[in-house]
Amino acid sequence: MKSFGIKRPNRDSVTTINEDGSRQIVYPADVSGRFTFWRRLVGYGLIILYAALPWIQINGNPAVFLDLDTNHFHLFGLTFVGQDIWLGFFVVSGVAFSLYYVTALLGRVWCGWGCPQTVFLDHVVRRIERIVEGGALERKALAQGPWTLRKMRLMMIKHSLFFILSFVIAHLFLSYFITPHKLYLMMISLPWEHWGYFLKVMFVTLVLYFNFAWFREQFCIVLCPYGRFQSALIDDHSVIIGYDENRGEPRGKRGTEGAGDCVDCMRCVQVCPTGIDIRQGLQIECIGCSNCIDACDEVMTKLDRLKGLIRYDSLQGLKGLETKFICPRLILYTFFLLIGIGVMSWAIFGIRPVTMSALRMVGAPYYLDSEKGMIRNQYLVRILNKKNIAVKCMLEIESHDHPIIGNGVHEEIEIPALGEVMRPVVVTLPQSAFKGRFHVKIEIESEVNRFSISKTVPFLGPSDKEDE
Ligand code: SF4
Ligand code: SF4
Repeated sequence: MKSFGIKRPNRDSVTTINEDGSRQIVYPADVSGRFTFWRRLVGYGLIILYAALPWIQINGNPAVFLDLDTNHFHLFGLTFVGQDIWLGFFVVSGVAFSLYYVTALLGRVWCGWGCPQTVFLDHVVRRIERIVEGGALERKALAQGPWTLRKMRLMMIKHSLFFILSFVIAHLFLSYFITPHKLYLMMISLPWEHWGYFLKVMFVTLVLYFNFAWFREQFCIVLCPYGRFQSALIDDHSVIIGYDENRGEPRGKRGTEGAGDCVDCMRCVQVCPTGIDIRQGLQIECIGCSNCIDACDEVMTKLDRLKGLIRYDSLQGLKGLETKFICPRLILYTFFLLIGIGVMSWAIFGIRPVTMSALRMVGAPYYLDSEKGMIRNQYLVRILNKKNIAVKCMLEIESHDHPIIGNGVHEEIEIPALGEVMRPVVVTLPQSAFKGRFHVKIEIESEVNRFSISKTVPFLGPSDKEDE
């Protein structure tokens, strides 16, 4: 067996961390096969998607964009403002629950196929490393060999490429928060003209560079909380990547009498990016990358044996028992997921493109003009336009049975695209007509933009002892 630089994996300890706490670097070998092919395709598709989302326009706004200048959040054609922040609860809990649901059904498929950490590490960073330094054995020999001119040259090329990659991703990341035009202006101007953003980009660049150049699989093993959850979410019927012990054991070289299908070639360990041996069972370090499936299938094909000694299957299936996809736990999860989707859809689609609030102005609750015999209440009306076109509306007040007069009403108001307008509204009533607190309806209406919103506010006078 060729040594790929790691101690023989042991289920009771983390392969990539030595007993004294120091780091054991993994040099995963190259692998090819059907899962590698599809995973690469999905990975490149996702990289294009991550890069394109802030640039794709839906309803005139970027598909995903948090505008730090205006505090507007655009998500696939919907626009949220600061007051919609409560929806974040549904989004965060919805994403978390969907992840739990997928894990209960398909194990760590997200980690292996969709997580940006795996996508960039496997499909970009490790490919750069392979192109510059060569295969796993060459990389290990180079890393452990003496410092020569060749080593310095290769290290410089590799780390420069990692830094450039981190710099590009940091800019892509920033494009989710500042407009492309502004981003371009920043890129062509000097750092001290926009210190804040420059420092943010450099910080993200350095964090990414540290991750790509050194931290790598440690992020999944020691930092990511999702990895810790998986054992609680997976049961014997969840589809995971596992080794068929019944078929593979006892291990033995080809031709050994009574030996199972596993020839103990260690190829599945050599290709594992977290340095574990899947034959020791499901482990927290397994990110579900499927490298070991392709590696073992390759070996089985060469040996003229059936593929699938390591495969996607449930723990039940790997024992030769039936996998039940429909079980009480999953039915309960599905039920909760549907409720969550329903509530979230109701909340999101209930959001109006124009919102209004009407609040009493700070200061005295009412003003009594004894000379003229009038009572005055003042309100502040705030109209928020979440559309990316200007809207026009009329502001009106109404109160049945009370002869009120309004100032700042009966006129057309134009609210700019993604903007807001604040209007003071003064409501006056003859003191003789005031018989106690009553309600005034403040309404905005637009025939052109087809909306009508109203709020009721209390009108206070001398008989009201307290504020609303
Ligand atoms: S690659 Fe397959 S045959 Fe080789 S050690 Fe792993 S499980 Fe056994
Ligand atoms: S055990 Fe297999 S699927 Fe899990 S991380 Fe290692 S190579 Fe990937």
